[in-house]
Amino acid sequence: MRLRFITDLVSLFYPEVCAACGHLLFAHEKTVCLSCRHLLADTGYEGVQDNPVARMYWGRCRFEAACGIYFFSKKGKVQHLIHELKYKGNREAGLFLGTEMGKKMAASALYQSVDVVVPVPLHPKKIHKRGFNQSEIIAHGIQEITSWPVSTDNLIRSVATATQTKKSRTARWENVKDIFLLQRPGDLAGKHVLLVDDVITTGSTIEACAIALSAAPGIKISVAAAACAPG
Ligand SMILES: [Zn+2]
Repeated sequence: MRLRFITDLVSLFYPEVCAACGHLLFAHEKTVCLSCRHLLADTGYEGVQDNPVARMYWGRCRFEAACGIYFFSKKGKVQHLIHELKYKGNREAGLFLGTEMGKKMAASALYQSVDVVVPVPLHPKKIHKRGFNQSEIIAHGIQEITSWPVSTDNLIRSVATATQTKKSRTARWENVKDIFLLQRPGDLAGKHVLLVDDVITTGSTIEACAIALSAAPGIKISVAAAACAPG
């Protein structure tokens, strides 16, 4: 009773706001308000084998399936949610994205055989600075819906890299190609792994992770991101 009183008191002074627009949430809304939810642009890629994200990897990696769930646009709602997650430490924003991804993949025939979720690793120094790995938070949101286990200690990032955003595709590839390492390949032998990232742009990071994961014999890999460029 007393605890309830304290929680009510806290929400009176720190009311919950929408992670995508900052407006106050109504009691029946959670994390993201209804009008922002309507503005999130679904790609529908999770239900289609041949889609622009999957095509981006043709001739680079062999994936069972690949998708981004929402279209990323500058100043759009998805960008705001990812910004909240990465730079403001708003884990709820990441869990929201993950649960929405989980619902979409659970309803798709392409992801039914997934055994384990592997978030794209961050270098420990960056985790220390940020406090968490944003892809791992998204992965836990996916797990809430699908119950797929999340593996965070097998695929590791061994080298810290400079920010990717201002580099060309070739420069990005040079930057990431050798930085991931699968520590215990046997653990993922014969498994269907879902690699998870926040945003897919050129796909270099995912490609480098996939190369490291291929050390596991008989592994199958799929990819899912919260957002991808319109294409
Ligand atoms: Zn909103």
